[in-house]
Amino acid sequence: MSVPGTVQVGGWSAPLGSAVRFLLAPGARQRNDVSAARELNVAQLSQPLPTGLSMTWLGTAGFTLAYEGFHLVIDPYLTRTGLGSVVRHRPLRPSVDLIDRHVPRADAILVGHTHFDHALDVPELARRRGCRVYGSSALATLMGLAGLTDACVTAEPGRCYALGPFEVTFVPSVHSKLVLGLKVNAEGEITCDHLDDMHQGCFRCGQVWGIHIAVAGRTFYHQGSANLIESALRHRAVDYLLCGIAGRGFTRDYTRRVLGALQPKTVIAHHHDNFFLPLEGPMGFSFNVNFGGFVEEVRRVSADFEVRVFDPLQTVVGD
Ligand SMILES: [Zn+2]
Repeated sequence: MSVPGTVQVGGWSAPLGSAVRFLLAPGARQRNDVSAARELNVAQLSQPLPTGLSMTWLGTAGFTLAYEGFHLVIDPYLTRTGLGSVVRHRPLRPSVDLIDRHVPRADAILVGHTHFDHALDVPELARRRGCRVYGSSALATLMGLAGLTDACVTAEPGRCYALGPFEVTFVPSVHSKLVLGLKVNAEGEITCDHLDDMHQGCFRCGQVWGIHIAVAGRTFYHQGSANLIESALRHRAVDYLLCGIAGRGFTRDYTRRVLGALQPKTVIAHHHDNFFLPLEGPMGFSFNVNFGGFVEEVRRVSADFEVRVFDPLQTVVGD
């Protein structure tokens, strides 16, 4: 017998709303994500950026912060190789055109981990801009393969690096366990011998960093993958949490934990886009990222957090 408001699914009852949401999930969720993103666009920040500071979202976990003429770039991935080449393990090559078009200036590059969607474009960008990169020993290996050993600084945890007007601190972190919640995909150090032969599996994760940035009296925290080590965090009450949300379903209670640990005023979600699609085309949401669901998760922790999101390549500037 069925109860009003429920449906029978495989012999068990479920609330009608849940069942319908489940059955319609892909299309309905995408529409929900699109409307949530439109409503929460970063142009409406209630905590405006400091005067003269600009911030651009480069897609995936990539950002450029610029202040007093200094351009600080984080996890740039402009090339966005198609899914077919990635799953066939074709060698991944950076697109010079896309790098030049979207990151014309870089005075320092910060890398949170070395999966291809964070690090593929880094050596070529550093070569073209003549700037240093900061990150893990895996990043140092990658830069060495590109003949750029001298341009890489292997970050020391907790040390404050003064980069132009920015003060940057690397905080030990961890990656979400994307392999069925059991392990990190492509774990460990980079061991390939030739840059030109590197396919996606060669871009191993290496040490994962959260990155704390202070500039112009404000603080930012870049969380590139949806996991963290609370005990490693020294910074609290950051102004802007740049919160990677892909794969958070594999990390127990990620949203509540990261908000509790960092107590941000503003949460800027990223890494929700489908990075197998070109950056310059219409944005798709990454499979199962459920941006609208993330907004609800934040609200369940507290309605006091402001949630915002960029359009791809959108720039906001403090007046
Ligand atoms: Zn990753």
